Amino acid sequence: MKRLTAVVALALAPLLVVAGLAWAAATDNMFPTSHTLGYCQTGMGHGAPCQTDNKDVYFYMDSGGENMLEAVDKQTVNNAIDGEYRPTDLAFHYDSTPVFSGSGETDIIYQEGSAGLPDSAAGMTWCDAAGGDVRDCDQQYIRIRGNGYYTYARVCHETGHAVGLQHGDIASPQLNKHTDTRLGCLLTPSDGHNALGANNRENINATY
Ligand SMILES: [Zn+2]
Repeated sequence: MKRLTAVVALALAPLLVVAGLAWAAATDNMFPTSHTLGYCQTGMGHGAPCQTDNKDVYFYMDSGGENMLEAVDKQTVNNAIDGEYRPTDLAFHYDSTPVFSGSGETDIIYQEGSAGLPDSAAGMTWCDAAGGDVRDCDQQYIRIRGNGYYTYARVCHETGHAVGLQHGDIASPQLNKHTDTRLGCLLTPSDGHNALGANNRENINATY
């Protein structure tokens, strides 16, 4: 019996090495995980953050009305996209003529405001239009409060949700969502951690 066990262990070892090379991320926190539904839900506060529909991410920042971003907030959004997301395989493009209907909507709409946010939340991301694959969202809204809440770290956090990244408690394996720094800017609460980090970057690049 001992001899047989040794043979099995030897046979398994090369498989583990290959798996390690293919997947070095700390956890799988890209939607869907084993702790989320398998399909995207629409509506504010509904379900887990969904994937965006492809690697070309078109974004718009509200420039009028009650949810408009001030110039300083727009600069913060651009800084966080430039610093954290352009180094990934995603290609971000500003869409100055946003599309809000049909099958090719602008992927991310950044807003400043507090309407609909729980008292405990500085910001929220939700899918407005599921589309294409069941994992995908055609249009995601990011709403972050005004008066100093529009920080680089929060833009990094909510933008992560808008491309499908989850908190640590619904990652697989689960990580402490408040303390495990491998979650980078997806740690919660959402302020204070500016860097997207290797784990999130790897999840993005494996998906898109
Ligand atoms: Zn979050």
